[in-house]
Amino acid sequence: MDTEVVISGAGPTGLLLGAELALAGVRVRILERQKARHGQSRALTLHPRSIEILELRGIAERFLAQGRTVPSWHFAGLSRKLDFSALDTRHGYTLFLEQTRTERLLEERARELGVEISYGHEVVSLAQDDDGVAVAGVGPDGDFRLRAAYLVGCDGGRSKVRESAGIGFPGSDDTMSSMLGDFAVVDQEAIAAAGRIPLLIAPLSGGLTRIVVTSPERMRVPATEPVTFEEFRATLVQLTGTSFGIAEPRWLSRFGNATRVAENYRSGRVFLAGDAAHIHFPAAGQGLNTGLQDAMNLGWKLAAELNGWAPPGLLGTYHAERFPVGHLVAGNTQAQTLLLELTLVPDYRRPVAALRGLLDSLLEIPEVNARLAGLVSALSTSYPAPDGDPLVGTRMLGPQGPNLVHSGTFGYFGDGAEQVAEGWKDRITVAGAKPGDLSELLLRPDGHIAWVRRETDPPDAARREAAITAWAGAAARG
Ligand SMILES: Cc1cc2nc3c(=O)[nH]c(=O)nc-3n(C[C@H](O)[C@H](O)[C@H](O)COP(=O)(O)OP(=O)(O)OC[C@H]3O[C@@H](n4cnc5c(N)ncnc54)[C@H](O)[C@@H]3O)c2cc1C
Repeated sequence: MDTEVVISGAGPTGLLLGAELALAGVRVRILERQKARHGQSRALTLHPRSIEILELRGIAERFLAQGRTVPSWHFAGLSRKLDFSALDTRHGYTLFLEQTRTERLLEERARELGVEISYGHEVVSLAQDDDGVAVAGVGPDGDFRLRAAYLVGCDGGRSKVRESAGIGFPGSDDTMSSMLGDFAVVDQEAIAAAGRIPLLIAPLSGGLTRIVVTSPERMRVPATEPVTFEEFRATLVQLTGTSFGIAEPRWLSRFGNATRVAENYRSGRVFLAGDAAHIHFPAAGQGLNTGLQDAMNLGWKLAAELNGWAPPGLLGTYHAERFPVGHLVAGNTQAQTLLLELTLVPDYRRPVAALRGLLDSLLEIPEVNARLAGLVSALSTSYPAPDGDPLVGTRMLGPQGPNLVHSGTFGYFGDGAEQVAEGWKDRITVAGAKPGDLSELLLRPDGHIAWVRRETDPPDAARREAAITAWAGAAARG
């Protein structure tokens, strides 16, 4: 097999996954249905955990150089903001970066690492057996067939891979929709003078302005119905008394709040990641970010399997760890969307205003604010071990971790350096330094802690070997 992993879809999830696999020496090919990249950005944000994972690979600066950071973010459009700057991270902000730029930078990274990306190639069906997956599709030269050891569906909310693999996608349908418009011409003075208005307005590159609007009159229109310029303009006038001088629309779109999570992120040799595994309303901007973290979780595990050292069950941990996160995101976006929806129903306006006031006052409590900020930023994502130390599964803080795992290996800190270097030098980068007030720490390639030894526990080579083997496989002998 020339290609070990085929990825369907060159969106942000597929591109990061491709890069992660190639970093570990896996031969990977991404098939992308579109003939070329389109210029439209759905997402505009990268949240703190996404910046941290880019930093783990030493590429965060590329993204930071092209965007703009803001220290706070919102939950459900509440007046009281989430304070990202108070979180325990060196990246306590949201980075405003259009999705097209994020994708361009991720594609650049993937290509640098040798990932083959084939545009104009649509995956149509798959068939798997014990040894691999046969992928059939349509490309510029007609039908094609490919075989790979694994296939990953990063092909978005309507994933053909998910459908062909027979993986269910339970959840709820749209109950409301919003409209999005990118305009070349707007009246900036009218926007500046508008004060508090029920719209999201953001500047985009190329002099464009993004306006997102949800209105009581139009929110029951099916998300599949195209938006017309006149509808958009009339809705702005009706809601705010002005059209803000919009003209020259570059993109008009409608999106809904259907919320679904794949019943399994894996079926045999087929995996799902990103929107193929979970869809929801873009409340607080979490979809792209969650997809990047899926990719970061799956990449090293799949590579470990292909490189022959994965411990038993490692691949199964992808679903075990990421499926609950998909549900958490689906749940918090549903809660936010319900609040937005009720705000727009005239009969509920007063009680919802009271509820918003109450929630705003709760967000003034630092612990409450930090709890929601941890959720939306994904910094609180943890993969705890049933009987493990409370640190196991959390992200490693501080700059030492990222510096050690740039090349996608595990990282080890502590006084067993010699034993670790001898047994796992192909998989673990070793630092002799003690990790803060711990005696030993094993860091996973995705920046989460696999194992620690406290200063109160005596050194124990057999225990160390068992802990490392459970994650990084058996030591190489001889
Ligand atoms: C209005 C709006 C605003 C949003 N804002 C934010 C935000 O601020 N922050 C955030 O984190 N998220 C946001 N999101 C969500 C975000 O855009 C998505 O979660 C993200 O694009 C998912 O990335 P992905 O790579 O998983 O899927 P996609 O970006 O959907 O990429 C899938 C790719 O697969 C390709 N493909 C599909 N079918 C096939 C096939 N059969 N064969 C080959 N290729 C195929 C597609 O062409 C596409 O390129 C927003 C969404 C909307 C609608």
